[in-house]
Amino acid sequence: MTHYIPEDLPDRIRHFIDGEFVDSVGGETFDVLDPVSNETYVQAAAGQQADIDLAVAAAKRAFDEGPWPRMLPRQRSRVLHRIADLIEARDARLAELETFDTGLPITQALGQAQRAAENFRFFADLIVAQRDDTYKVPGRQVNYVNRKPIGVAGLITPWNTPFMLESWKLAPALATGNTVVLKPAEFTPLSASLWAEIFREAGVPDGVFNLVNGLGEEAGDALVKHPDVPLISFTGESRTGQIIFGNAAPFLKGLSMELGGKSPAVVFADADIDSALDATVFGVFSLNGERCTAGSRVLVERAIYEDFVARYAARAKNIVVGDPHDPKTEVGALVHPEHYEKVMSYVEIGKTEGRLVAGGGRPEGLDTGNYVAPTVFADVSPDARIFQEEIFGPVVAITPFDTDEEALELANNTRYGLAAYIWTNNLKRAHNFAQSVEAGMVWLNSNNVRDLRTPFGGVKASGLGHEGGYRSIDFYTDQQAVHITLNEAHSPRFGTSK
Ligand code: NAD
Repeated sequence: MTHYIPEDLPDRIRHFIDGEFVDSVGGETFDVLDPVSNETYVQAAAGQQADIDLAVAAAKRAFDEGPWPRMLPRQRSRVLHRIADLIEARDARLAELETFDTGLPITQALGQAQRAAENFRFFADLIVAQRDDTYKVPGRQVNYVNRKPIGVAGLITPWNTPFMLESWKLAPALATGNTVVLKPAEFTPLSASLWAEIFREAGVPDGVFNLVNGLGEEAGDALVKHPDVPLISFTGESRTGQIIFGNAAPFLKGLSMELGGKSPAVVFADADIDSALDATVFGVFSLNGERCTAGSRVLVERAIYEDFVARYAARAKNIVVGDPHDPKTEVGALVHPEHYEKVMSYVEIGKTEGRLVAGGGRPEGLDTGNYVAPTVFADVSPDARIFQEEIFGPVVAITPFDTDEEALELANNTRYGLAAYIWTNNLKRAHNFAQSVEAGMVWLNSNNVRDLRTPFGGVKASGLGHEGGYRSIDFYTDQQAVHITLNEAHSPRFGTSK
């Protein structure tokens, strides 16, 4: 198979601190592989405590002394729109780098690049429209909310759709006047280095955006434990989230946690079955299945179960797996050999837990690279590991149900609670189910189509706190209450009775 390698790859990936590309103070590096050849194509600087210290100091200086937090919202908004323009102008380059580094299919990587631009535009608009509350107590008080940026925000992101997920945090953190230190995922550091050029060209002052590459246990850990970083916004595995919670606790930091998922897609017999099939196939196999909101448990009403499973399996077998750079590819290569091993181990576990109806290993003709054939297990019982655990690859578990109560019980029967997709044409059932399902986000008769104004986040082990729309503004700002007395201060007169 041909292996597309983008032109002009960097000869090494460096940090970006205080407006300069720099290596680690101690010269440490780590290998970065591409998921099609699994060969090291570049070395990236591996940030340590000393590098985080420099980045945080630069960000703190830019916050305490620089213009960014003091600019009018309209001024920051203009810069954010310029960032969006620059991302859009480079979407093809971004997509090819992202595809090369992550193994995501190129058409989907392009969509993610455009979404990154949209995230900046959205928050550029939101901050100029931002209003805050004022309360009047007639004749006595006027009280208002003084919203302020908080300081240096630490942003820690995962390797699935890296650039887009970085934009999801960068846009609101910067829009609200904070300065940032971004620690991207070590599997996929390539696209993040484009931020530096984009921000510089858009007019973001030095020190406002800082990037430190490196391993989670080193650079990420140092960021979480840095006393001058009051906020951590983290997206990643639930287990990592628990560790970060613990490490941030002594500092009482503000935390936003977007964690793992094992989301149900529930198909009732009265649904539009063709649409449900399209959406549930797309819902788990798009982005290579490396998608936090993947509908990776498909629950199907018994009356249509066998037919649905057969049609689902036929579609899965027909999915085009191959070179991520080929626009015809629907499922590319998984991000890294370690992750490939993990997903393949679940495929083997699945063979002992369910009825394999599609996939089950490496696709034919793809002997190297992290390729997994879209894999479908039917008749999976709720105590199976492939029903309970996040696989984060192109693997789906299908389970039948007989009643609404059983469907709900199955849907809620995991530690996760990120998304739920419900397919039915019965209005009452749809709303009752939506209100009872334990999920931060619900889609009725739809795949995952986001409205950027709505809250994004999970319940249970899928996260804590919601970002999205004005909730992101709330996370990245302090809302100080200012009280003004309009008449004499009515204070009880202590110390006057003797
Ligand atoms: P991960 O938890 O392994 O890593 C995420 C980030 O945390 C990386 O940058 C990593 O270097 C860093 N990290 C690791 N250990 C750390 C530590 N001790 N201290 C500080 N930082 C540390 O996750 P991943 O494998 O990169 O991503 C996949 C996971 O992300 C899946 O569980 C997926 O569901 C989840 N995810 C969730 C959402 C969401 O919005 N809920 C979105 C995308 C991905």
